[in-house]
Amino acid sequence: MRYISTRGLDSQAGLGFSDILLAGLAPDGGLFLPESYPELTSQLDELRELLASDGYPGVAHRILTAYIDDIDSADLLAICRRAYSAENFGEGDIVPVTRLGDEDIWLAHLSQGPTAAFKDMAMQLLGQLFGHELERRDSMLNILGATSGDTGSAAEYAMLGQPRISVFMLTPKGRMTPFQQAQMFSIDDPKVINIAVEGVFDDCQDLVKTVSQDLDFKSRYRIGAVNSINWARLLAQVVYYVVAWLRVTTDSSEQVNFCVPSGNFGNICAGHIARQMGVPIRQLVLATNENDVLHEFFSTGVYRVRGSSETHQTSSPSMDISKASNFERFIFDLLGRDARRVRELFAVDLATTGEFDLSDTSEFASLRDTFGFVSGSSTHTDRVNTIADVWHAHRVMIDPHTADGVTVARRKESEVPTIVMETALPVKFASTIYEALGRDPEVPEGFAGLLELPRHVIDLDSDVSALKGLIVERLAELDR
Ligand SMILES: *Cc1c(COP(=O)(O)O)cnc(C)c1O
Repeated sequence: MRYISTRGLDSQAGLGFSDILLAGLAPDGGLFLPESYPELTSQLDELRELLASDGYPGVAHRILTAYIDDIDSADLLAICRRAYSAENFGEGDIVPVTRLGDEDIWLAHLSQGPTAAFKDMAMQLLGQLFGHELERRDSMLNILGATSGDTGSAAEYAMLGQPRISVFMLTPKGRMTPFQQAQMFSIDDPKVINIAVEGVFDDCQDLVKTVSQDLDFKSRYRIGAVNSINWARLLAQVVYYVVAWLRVTTDSSEQVNFCVPSGNFGNICAGHIARQMGVPIRQLVLATNENDVLHEFFSTGVYRVRGSSETHQTSSPSMDISKASNFERFIFDLLGRDARRVRELFAVDLATTGEFDLSDTSEFASLRDTFGFVSGSSTHTDRVNTIADVWHAHRVMIDPHTADGVTVARRKESEVPTIVMETALPVKFASTIYEALGRDPEVPEGFAGLLELPRHVIDLDSDVSALKGLIVERLAELDR
């Protein structure tokens, strides 16, 4: 399988999976995608058997081999088994599904990993793939990132076991939930360096950007990233769409809808890819919170990036985005993979005016039929009500992001089952749960006592040279 850019590099010979694994953006500023989506339609029955015999890692391996031909197949299977182990995801099924009573709505439980959010599903695989590739190159990687919540902790837990990787993770001081802070700061490993920046998330991100733009520094200290546009993360997520569909259906002709709480369009983009591969998905229901950039696009055809003053802080903070970093991939497919038009929309229109408009194109007119996308959004009140209602009706406790999905799923008429992606566990968002239910969330086994553990975090002013100094000092201590 060869990989291309959504903006169509001139000499587009295509790159292999291992070439793009550690890369961020394509050199032309676009995003990497495979040159085609492998067909799964003829393998659906076989996948059902494979899930029964080899479990989640077996299905993961099968799907990954369709996209990766430069890693030995036996190595890839070992990678999948290490990523999707009982140690990481518990003894039971990986991505179990449960039905909400007599509603035709199911939850796909994606949050059984080490950090109780769905990002573990991709990040655990990424950690293993990075480790394997660095071993092959006999190289090291120092990940520099910024997080306001789930990404940072998922990255840290995924890279913990990788001797060739260290992580520098910036967080806005005091602005994550107590549980999220405890999750990251309790990690006691010299290769994981938590940095609490005096400022907001944007300050953290600006620092990361500035350091990454210093190409000398970047290459000298082998700085890399694990951002949400990484192709391997997306690919890992395709697997659970297949598995959730297998678990809810009994026959390979049965269709389902997926409803996905969305921010950067990573999760649902994987659903789009699964659908393109032939998984029987009728609709992809995109759910946003008050930050409804994507809901606006799917209802009007106008994609308008928000400024920071228009980006709301909500009770589903992992969906508080001003633009959706993976969206260009879908637009590429929507426009029949016309890289010239994509380049014009993203590198010209968006870059100059902050928006583009596809409302009077034929592609937008047939979007729903061709790609199955519909959308909705929720407010804080909707989510709190949904959390309370799902608890009282079904004795199931859901987190505010999942509540966003359930809210939107319930509003849609559907003839087929709707699978809502559960993207985090309630324990991460205790104050909203308290507001909805008047009680604290259940603390799953394994997270008990987390808040009391010693903290490992360095306070830092929002200052680039201080950050660089810290990186240099720590890497010297690590002897890198
Ligand atoms: C990251 C995240 C999302 C949004 O996922 P995208 O892939 O950015 O659309 C939703 N819910 C939770 C809990 C998350 O951590």
